[in-house]
Amino acid sequence: MKTKIDFDINKLVRPNILKLKPYQSAREQMSDQDAILLDANENPFPIGYNRYPDPLQRNLKTKIGEIKNIATENIFLGNGSDEIIDLLIRAFCIPGKDSILINAPTYGMYEVCANMNDAKVIKVNLDNEFQIDLPTVLKKSQQAKIIFICSPNNPTGNLIQQDLIVDLLKNFNGIVVLDEAYIDFANDAGFSSKIDNYPNLVVLQTFSKARAMAGIRLGMAFMNTEIVNILNKIKYPYNISLLNQKAALKALEDDSVNSGIKAILEQREWLISELKKLKIVDKIWPSDANFLLVQFKNHKQVFEFLLREDIIVRDRSNEPNCEGCLRITVGKSLDNLMLISCLKQFERVKNYNYEKDTVFRS
Ligand SMILES: *Cc1c(COP(=O)(O)O)cnc(C)c1O
Repeated sequence: MKTKIDFDINKLVRPNILKLKPYQSAREQMSDQDAILLDANENPFPIGYNRYPDPLQRNLKTKIGEIKNIATENIFLGNGSDEIIDLLIRAFCIPGKDSILINAPTYGMYEVCANMNDAKVIKVNLDNEFQIDLPTVLKKSQQAKIIFICSPNNPTGNLIQQDLIVDLLKNFNGIVVLDEAYIDFANDAGFSSKIDNYPNLVVLQTFSKARAMAGIRLGMAFMNTEIVNILNKIKYPYNISLLNQKAALKALEDDSVNSGIKAILEQREWLISELKKLKIVDKIWPSDANFLLVQFKNHKQVFEFLLREDIIVRDRSNEPNCEGCLRITVGKSLDNLMLISCLKQFERVKNYNYEKDTVFRS
């Protein structure tokens, strides 16, 4: 499993960030829980939240490390994965000069964060099966500092083949960010146990999907300690609030995540079987995630019809190789039942014109 790359973090990081003297919180060195805290100008009278949170989130990382079997020094936590995506681009891409590479269609935040940081975006389309076009990526990535891979990919739903990811890791001299936001829905262990083999690998996971905690904004990243140290230098000192750290710890203690995943996977199969019966459905892409990419006849009308019935799905039809496609999240059974019943209704009244229906409009 020897990699061909010559990984040198000091050559990859932006020079100003390499030199950066980070903001120092005195609490980073603190180990005694009962210390008298006169260092941070807090109000000493407790109402529950009078103290700044642990800047390194040590208790939470210990718990996550136990569950994932990953050493705490290989873990970085962000205010959502979105913060981590932004920090990675900020750490490695010199504005106006460096680029990232994305495999389209994919999650929109990679490009948005690149734009915010004035990093260029090299876009390579996924192939007809939504797998990585390895020769093109290897060729074009010579200009890039970071390659983003999303597996299972959003919005297509499929896992990216392991050997393609390994080939990239072994041949790309920059950072490979593997976004596994949906890995808990897939029948696959993912790459988080492989960070020791690949110094250039960053695996992203999140509390937002299978863990049902999108509201607390907590993203996890696993990677070699050199990259963790860079991210720790440039993050805001108290990026994960005390409320969020507590909520996440509590959720991890009564860990009931698997029953929710099982229910969603059952509902996904039910939705697939019902969608297959509809004449307006042209194709249902295989899914390793909690959503389906579905190609419809008259997808615009389907989208509008659902919207009027207060069912909101995502139109992805403008993405490469996604003509006519809507992305539908697997909901709870009643949501899914309502969706299917609306789609059946649509099939019956397909050419119905709401605009001309004065009764409906009054
Ligand atoms: C939903 C999603 C995330 C989650 O982002 P958070 O900021 O952690 O909520 C990350 N990546 C992809 C591809 C997603 O679809």
